[in-house]
Amino acid sequence: MEKMKLIDISMPLYNGVPGWPGDTPYSFDLAWTKEQSGSVNVGKLEMSAHTGTHIDAPFHFDDEGKKVYDLPIELYTGPATVIDVSGEQEITLNSIKEKVKMGTKRVLFKTNCWGDRSQFPEKIVPVLPEIVPFLKNRGVELIGVDMPSVDQLDSKELAAHHTLYEHHIHILEGLVLDYVAEGEYELIALPLPLKEGDGSPVRAILRELR
Ligand SMILES: [Zn+2]
Repeated sequence: MEKMKLIDISMPLYNGVPGWPGDTPYSFDLAWTKEQSGSVNVGKLEMSAHTGTHIDAPFHFDDEGKKVYDLPIELYTGPATVIDVSGEQEITLNSIKEKVKMGTKRVLFKTNCWGDRSQFPEKIVPVLPEIVPFLKNRGVELIGVDMPSVDQLDSKELAAHHTLYEHHIHILEGLVLDYVAEGEYELIALPLPLKEGDGSPVRAILRELR
């Protein structure tokens, strides 16, 4: 059997990785060194649940919403369609409607708007709520984006987050799709089993299909 290629579409995590302005900065340090413990190095992590490549649980924007551990892991594993919308100012119905086939469960939008990953972006390519009923109608249950949010960064009403939520479509953010061509893949992007989680970092990969 031919080996199928895996593409890592996750942002590396390191001290200094850019996070949402005002949110908990990412920090990793060796809280217990080999010298101290006598046997092993033990790291300590402090981070926002929305650092780098991560999922949003409904609890992130709704106090009554589901938390990470309550979400079915099937959402985050399986066929996914990558759609290239680079060059667009917004993700509109016109920019995607020919590309989402009936029965598509997972869609990843490649906007290419976050080029320099050492900085938090100033502007992104927001998902317009008008695409949401269309995606639902096609069967979509998960959308992924290569930017830190699906809404414009200064948005307080979070129209896309809420419209997606109302249509039971889940959200994966902070993907790295620079080297991924438009097409069909298998996605694996499992969140940690966080019982209280409003979000979770994921290691997201795509498997090429043959
Ligand atoms: Zn988030």
